[in-house]
Formats: sequence, C-alpha cells, structure tokens
Amino acid sequence: MTALPMPETQAPWPARDALRITGVRPIVTAPEGVPLVVVRVDTSDPGLYGLGCATFTQRFHAVAAAVEQHVGPMLVGRHPADIEDITRMVHYSSYWRGGPVLNSALSGVDQALWDIAGKRAGMPVYELLGGRVRAAADTYLHAGGATVEETLDHARALLEAGYRHVRLQSGAPGIGHYGSPGSRGGYPGSPYPDGWDVQRYLRDVPALFERARSELGPEPGLMHDVHSRLTPKQAIVLARALEPYRLFFLEDPIAPEHYDRLPEVCAAAPMPIAAGEQIGSVADAARLVRDGGVDLLRLHVSAVGGLTPARKLVALCELQGVGTAWHAPADVSPIGAAANVALDVTSAAFQIQEGHVYGDAVHEVFPGTISPRNAYLYPNQAPGWGIDLDETLAAKYPPRTHLHERWAAGVRRPDGGIEAP
Ligand code: MG
Repeated sequence: MTALPMPETQAPWPARDALRITGVRPIVTAPEGVPLVVVRVDTSDPGLYGLGCATFTQRFHAVAAAVEQHVGPMLVGRHPADIEDITRMVHYSSYWRGGPVLNSALSGVDQALWDIAGKRAGMPVYELLGGRVRAAADTYLHAGGATVEETLDHARALLEAGYRHVRLQSGAPGIGHYGSPGSRGGYPGSPYPDGWDVQRYLRDVPALFERARSELGPEPGLMHDVHSRLTPKQAIVLARALEPYRLFFLEDPIAPEHYDRLPEVCAAAPMPIAAGEQIGSVADAARLVRDGGVDLLRLHVSAVGGLTPARKLVALCELQGVGTAWHAPADVSPIGAAANVALDVTSAAFQIQEGHVYGDAVHEVFPGTISPRNAYLYPNQAPGWGIDLDETLAAKYPPRTHLHERWAAGVRRPDGGIEAP
C-alpha cells in the first residue's frame, strides 16, 4: 500500500518529472549473526527502488523504529533526486541533532537515494561522485589469536593470501579483548578475576610487534587497534614504545569522550593515528580533521548520516592533508561496504580500507556483495551500488540481540571497575 505524503515535508519547487517516493522501510537480517539494517526506498516507478545501509548492530531495533515511525513518513511524496534537501530536512527535523541511532536511519535513506540516482542515470555511484581517481581500494584484514604465535600464524596466512597489510591483536588474561580471544580467571586474587589489565597490555603490545616485525619482515603494513582503552599519556607511552616497528597506523588510542586531547596524542605519536569510528557527529569529525586530531579519519559512515555527509568530510580531509581509512568489519552491510569503496576510489584522501570477507550466506542474501581480489576491493560496475537484497532469504536470518552488548557489560579491570570496551 502506498503511504500518503505529508504536505509540510514536500519541496517548495516543481519536480522535473512525476517520479515520487512511495514507501520507506527497514529490513533487518543477520546472515552471519550480526544484525544488519538496510533501508529500502520504493518509488512510483514499480521497478525502481534503492537500498541503503543503516546498520547499528547494538541498537538495531531503535534504528528500525526511527526509519519506520519518524524518517520514512517524511519522505513519501518527495522526488528521490532531492538528496541534499532531504538529508538536511531529516537532520534538522528532530531538533536535537544526530547521534548514531538517528544518523544510521538517515544513512539508510541517504544511501538508498544515491542507489536510486545511480539506477536512474545508469551509472555506478562512483561516477556520480565525479569518477575514479584509482582502480580499487587496497584493504587489510585482522589477524588475531590467543597467543603471539597464533596471531603471527594468522598474519602469515593473510600475507600468503595476498594481503599487504594486517591488523595484529593478541590475547592475554581477561575477557575484555577485541579481535583476539581472552581467557577467564587471569587475576585469581582480584575482585574481578576476568579483568583486563592496562599495564599488562602496555607491556604485551610492543612485545607482539617486536616479534611481528622480526618474523614477518620489513614489508607488511602493520596496524594495531587500542579500542579506546588508554589515557592520553598512556597512549603516547604506547605509541613511542611501538616506534621501532613502523606501524602503518595506531587506531583509536583514546576514548571519544577525550577527543579534545587527541591532537596532543597525534603530535607526540611517531606513527599515523587513525580514529573516528565511534563519532556520531559530522561536526565532531570535522573538528578532528581541522585541529590535527587525526592522521587517518576512519568513520563508520552510517553513524555520521551516510554518503552525503561523509563525502563532505572526505573533501575536508583532502584539503587538510588527512587520510581516510573507513571502518568496515562485519558490522557494516554489503551496501555500506560498497558506499565505502565508492568514497575510496573517488578521493585522493584515501589511504586504506578495513576489509571483511563476507560468508556465503551474506552473498546469497545480498547478490552483488563485493569481495577482495588480491586484497583490492573493486567497485561494482552496475548502476547504483550494484547490490540487491533477497528479502525472502533475508527473513531466514532473523536478528537476535547482539552478543556485543553482553560482552561489553563484562569488560572490567581486575579491581572491578568498568573499562571502556
Ligand atoms: Mg576499531
């Protein structure tokens, strides 16, 4: 059934043709266990619709409700070509701006409108953005393990598979590890024996990279993700300890609550600092780029509102000499991953793309999902994103509460105090 337009949300200018948005709805599916949120925008042309990524795995119900109840109804009756006006209208309509829930909802409709624009033009989105400046986006994957040996074995397997860059994370006592297994009961005399200890972390990470550089050789680009655990001064201590191992970048050294001190960390660190995936505001991201807070901006594109705001930040990065390295592990849908690649291949600011190799179930639900070829991600040549969504198959993978929420609730220090996960 076609929903009725809201008169107040219609454009005060005549549309070039009779095409109109007739419906907007969220689709949540979890083919790999991670709840992916996609927005479908339908039009009055029965064969013409767009898909956009609105994935916020830890609050997917809230995003779906925002799309269905608040954002979607405002778009019905609008011409889908008014992307800039529609994104501004959605952004300002809640009065209180942004945040990852509303921005993810906005991202879903924004990217769906770009998909429609590409389909109408018969062009992939990267051509609408001005065309390519490179053939493909170089990508890195994560190597992790319970021990240094396991992590390095994993890294060697990725390098043998053709990857030129790997992120290294290694396990240690405590359950608060990202990207590597932790172990329970590491601090038996402590109030919280499963805790994560910052001093042990500050000793272990340089030891991991010393072994990595000596065993993997001088060529591979090596990264490490701190996951926002350190104070500004601890971050500087770690960055200096890692200097001999020539990291490609050090990621998220401090928590987003302390980003006003990221410029001093950035200035003192001998390697490039990459940060930004937890930012839910375009203005916050712009301040980091403008004030020397980041060498590589790595946004979660749906968390800042989609392709339209992200491309403005890409332009700012290019003008400021800051690189981009977008966030994209398993909690970005294939549509969002395609949007990342469209930005990557159309800007000189691009440096590297976080990669994820989707499994068969995702490829079946999302025909056209991009896979790395020799560690490069090539944009699809089909119009729009070149990716579809099989809703019948998607329904076979209903979302469950994301386990990340329960895991994060248990990330504490050995003394029992909560640690930023
Ligand atoms: Mg990260």
